[in-house]
Amino acid sequence: MSAVRENGVIVAIDGPSGAGKSSLTKLLAQRLGYIHIDTGAMFRAVALMSKRAGIATDDDARLAELCRGLEVTFVRDGENCRVLANGEDVSTEIRTEEIGLLTSAISARKPVREALLTMQRAMGAKGGVILEGRDIGTVVFPDAEVKFFLSASAEERGRRRYLELAARGDKATLEETIAKVIQRDQQDEGREHAPLKQADDALPIDSTSLSIEEVLTVMENAVRERLAQDDKR
Ligand code: C5P
Repeated sequence: MSAVRENGVIVAIDGPSGAGKSSLTKLLAQRLGYIHIDTGAMFRAVALMSKRAGIATDDDARLAELCRGLEVTFVRDGENCRVLANGEDVSTEIRTEEIGLLTSAISARKPVREALLTMQRAMGAKGGVILEGRDIGTVVFPDAEVKFFLSASAEERGRRRYLELAARGDKATLEETIAKVIQRDQQDEGREHAPLKQADDALPIDSTSLSIEEVLTVMENAVRERLAQDDKR
């Protein structure tokens, strides 16, 4: 076990949408016996609840109030993880393209970022966790022991997203899906608070022409190397 924190190290995986973060985080967590925290799902839950409550994307006072009364939790369901918002299973509802774009707008607001920052730090502090998101290595855990920045070309990320949507019966075209990926990248990179960007000490991985297994091996080796170093101390 790592000498660094109670349960192991903190692994941060950041990058734009569709780069493969979710699948890789899940697999890496299984290999290491670590907990997986999908911070995007937390922002998506806030976006869904704000839509239901009819809150405008720039109404910071109501967004702050919403976050104060919102508890987002994860429950294991076999291989998968369900996302609960105040106890309600919202796992499916938060995954639409509409909620994805709304999330990108809502997550740019300061009160939303502050509320979720506190929740994420509390969830990860003991280590033995992999957090995936946009600002984990830069803002949430700048002291994470291992950081990855996972990217792929916008065309490839759009293509992967399109296949996922098609498998679910969604009728979006490939061109529309790529355009939405690019729009979300611009919103996430251009925002004032915690924009999407690579941490200086993150290991960049371009997954455009790599298989999941290839990326997973690079990541697992990097984490194990770090754990071995800590054990020697
Ligand atoms: O990762 P996912 O695509 O589910 O994230 C949805 C949106 O949530 C992103 O486009 C981004 O705007 C926001 N997000 C964020 N910070 C994180 C995770 C997600 O701003 N740590």
